[in-house]
Amino acid sequence: MKPHGPIPPGFAADAEGMLLVGGMRADALAEAAGDTPLFVYDSAMLGARVAEWRAAMPAGVQLHYAMKANPYTPLLIHMARQVDGLDVASGGELKAALASGMAAEHISFAGPGKRDRELEAAIRAGVTLNLESAGEATRALAIAARTGITPRLAVRVNPDFDLKGSGMKMGGGAKPFGVDAADVPALVRRLLGLGADWRGFHIFAGSQALDAAAIAETQAQTVALAARLANQIGATPPLVNLGGGMGVPYFPGDRAVDVAAVGRALGETLATRDAVLGGSRFAMELGRWLVAEAGVYLTRIVDRKVSHGETFLVTDGGLHHQLAASGNFGTVIRRNYPIAVANRFGAGPAETVSVVGCLCTPLDRLGDQVGLPRADVGDLVVLFQAGAYGASASPAAFLGQGPAREMLV
Ligand SMILES: *Cc1c(COP(=O)(O)O)cnc(C)c1O
Repeated sequence: MKPHGPIPPGFAADAEGMLLVGGMRADALAEAAGDTPLFVYDSAMLGARVAEWRAAMPAGVQLHYAMKANPYTPLLIHMARQVDGLDVASGGELKAALASGMAAEHISFAGPGKRDRELEAAIRAGVTLNLESAGEATRALAIAARTGITPRLAVRVNPDFDLKGSGMKMGGGAKPFGVDAADVPALVRRLLGLGADWRGFHIFAGSQALDAAAIAETQAQTVALAARLANQIGATPPLVNLGGGMGVPYFPGDRAVDVAAVGRALGETLATRDAVLGGSRFAMELGRWLVAEAGVYLTRIVDRKVSHGETFLVTDGGLHHQLAASGNFGTVIRRNYPIAVANRFGAGPAETVSVVGCLCTPLDRLGDQVGLPRADVGDLVVLFQAGAYGASASPAAFLGQGPAREMLV
């Protein structure tokens, strides 16, 4: 038997052992949605997450939602009401963010390869562009000159360090993201000289880190880097976007981030910051930490079979909706996500089974030799930590099974 990741706290079953999501039975949710597979996002858990972050962080630090973690429209609208800003990474996300109710001045647009029409849409809307290169800056300035609009421009910095223990490194060394720190002062001086509305720095060093000390150290380095650059430029950045990096426990042995410790350390870092940042505001941008835990992915068992002594539960879901749980989205070694039988939630393991999806590929494994209560055709298998990088980050068109249903409750 192989272990699976920790079931997130906050999920419980009714007296019959049926998993409840947002106070509703999993089977009733599947019926209401019309069928499985189905993602359900719990709006109360999303709100609790935002509240937990605000309680832990120093006053005045802003919370941005990186919407690529989950762009589902009802969820995005729900998040837009609760956070201070949205971070988008494409023209499509920009449209969705503007439609979510978030004011344009609180939306920032990062990401390499922004096309001229995307730059123009952002400039016309009054969204802040986080510039990824000198070339992108030149194109944005040309569009600004042509349209006669003063653009809101921030510079994404490729820092000289990365976030230790992070699952996905976004800074340190040669990267497609951001402007190398050494080249930033000259670029910002050029922006200022041309009359752009310089909004500050965006410094994102990594993702999916669980160790509060590593996150705190990276934030201290980030603030120090922002101060050094600001002193070289001779101007105070209005906003320093510190990135995020707070991860969630997906795998056996993973522990949740100590958010209070991150907040305490950030408070000390900001209290002792260089005078050049005295008038700066600070923001963190978070994706998965805000939304992963509030989501479950519900699938139904279609077949139960034994092959060479291994029992397979074949579900109607799969990697076309939950690529990450299958181990094919940025992981080196496949390990089991938190998984359970939704209609026997809380029951102890009775057998070792492999849970697979309905795609005709050996990659489509949602649970590898996990211990679960006995489950049969018609029962519901649930995967947790499914609120981020699920439906929108999986190849839904693969093998023609179609997209999953989604609902916010
Ligand atoms: C993806 C991304 C995020 C969100 O990362 P999470 O791990 O989901 O928190 C934040 N900022 C930028 C620039 C990103 O590309």
